[in-house]
Amino acid sequence: MRAVALANCLMGAGTVRVVGANTIVPEAVLTRVHGTWRIYVRSDLSEERATFAVLHEIAHWVLGRAASEDACDALATAILRRQGGPISVAPGVASPLASVAAA
Ligand SMILES: [Zn+2]
Repeated sequence: MRAVALANCLMGAGTVRVVGANTIVPEAVLTRVHGTWRIYVRSDLSEERATFAVLHEIAHWVLGRAASEDACDALATAILRRQGGPISVAPGVASPLASVAAA
């Protein structure tokens, strides 16, 4: 998953940890453990969902705590588009690229 490589490049090696589906409620979480950033992502996600979830958490790290969920989804989507990968969005969230794709 290129998102893991991006997280490791930006936030340090071993940033992304895959955890059991019942360990965390959201698809992924960003947290600090003993001064080190960690992104925990659930093991039951599809490759596409896990990629988006990791990119969304990277966006939280880049944009800061004040960033909205929509802003983090938009940045994650933009990174996916830039990588030439599939464009996916969180369930129920309108993609900022929807109007581009429809054009
Ligand atoms: Zn979020």
